[in-house]
Amino acid sequence: MTTLVIAALAIALLFTLRLLWKQNRRLGELHEAVRTGQPRLREEEDATELSHWQALAVSVNGLIAENAALRQRQSDQLAQLEATLGNLREAVLIVDETNYIHLANRALREIFPKSRELVNLRLELVVRSAAFLEFVRATRAGQELPRQEFEIVDAGKSTWIEVSGAPIPSPDGKSQWALFVIHDMTRQRVLEAMRRDFVANASHELRTPLAVIKGYVETLVDGHATMAEEDRGKFLRTIQRHSERLVKIIADLLTLSRLESATPGLDFEPVDLKEFLGAVVADTSQHPAATGHALALRVDGAVGAVRADTEKLTQVLTNLLENALKYSPAGSRIEIGARALTAGGEVEIVVRDNGPGIPAEDLPHIFERFYRVEKGRSRESGGTGLGLSIVKHIVQLHGGRVWAESAPGQGTAIFVRLPAGPQPAAA
Ligand code: ADP
Repeated sequence: MTTLVIAALAIALLFTLRLLWKQNRRLGELHEAVRTGQPRLREEEDATELSHWQALAVSVNGLIAENAALRQRQSDQLAQLEATLGNLREAVLIVDETNYIHLANRALREIFPKSRELVNLRLELVVRSAAFLEFVRATRAGQELPRQEFEIVDAGKSTWIEVSGAPIPSPDGKSQWALFVIHDMTRQRVLEAMRRDFVANASHELRTPLAVIKGYVETLVDGHATMAEEDRGKFLRTIQRHSERLVKIIADLLTLSRLESATPGLDFEPVDLKEFLGAVVADTSQHPAATGHALALRVDGAVGAVRADTEKLTQVLTNLLENALKYSPAGSRIEIGARALTAGGEVEIVVRDNGPGIPAEDLPHIFERFYRVEKGRSRESGGTGLGLSIVKHIVQLHGGRVWAESAPGQGTAIFVRLPAGPQPAAA
């Protein structure tokens, strides 16, 4: 009897264990199906024993399939939107309720080129600006905000963006997303800053000689009757020097503005370089500043002609030679060279002096307007700080480039490369 009971209990236990094992396996399958989003639950089980499980499997399979279809439709809609917005000049951004990016068109990727693929990234990783993220939050919350500008600083570089936004429902309609139209304002802001700096610098440059002239004129008006003749002469010469300086600054400013205008008015013709450089060097040697300097011209025989505006090219060489004379000690040698570069179809002109040279940190800036390495020295010798800027503009208008090589105590060499042009008509 006892044996029978034990046998019956053992069978019941085995049956229960088998049932538990089956349930466990099915739960594992259910978990796997939901995790992978694949509706692969077995639905053909023994209907009597597991009818609830059967029903659950059918429902879960149905839900998974429906969810996959919804996701597909959503990504199709976004892909269609992306294709439509892709060619817009305006940058478009769509973020979801947790700031994940769902749409970023090409124009947006150009504003933030560091991250090649923006979709599926969190906005915080792309746009590092607390103010912008707050704007995104408020827009999504439905606040009506006017268009706003933000400065985004990344790795020391500023990007300015102007943003307008609107809340939009998510494709499944269950949450609130937000759409933004973004304009890149960086170029405008940089140009504005340059213009502001330029006006401030130009005003400062003009104010100094004007203040001197005004002071001396006032002294002369008040005291000319009683003033010693020698003092009067000294004052008048100072006024003359500073007025000449004013005239020079204004002439250089006008030259620059003409060169930067849409119609710089260049008159191109074939210029024989050997002849041209010979004439410029001969003229410069007559200059009082050149007394004591030795000007040496060396022109490679293969150098032919360039297509150039003779007057403007003369200004390039004059500015470079004036600098070499100004910044190198009397008695030192200045070399002017020209050679043909067969490889690039270019000619290279160099003006090399034995002056004090230019420190490495100043070298990239000397072609900027009003940039001077030693302010006092430049002004004393009549410099306006615009000479090399004029040189750069003229060379660029000729399709060439200009750069400097120098080191303190090693002299300075300024190189000009121009496209080799046709031979002059006579040649
Ligand atoms: P500036 O009228 O002051 O000479 P430039 O635009 O011609 O203005 O030159 C800018 C600055 O570059 C000068 O102020 C000077 O400090 C430096 N520089 C130009 N040429 C030379 C040179 N040959 N040797 C040393 N410094 C030079």
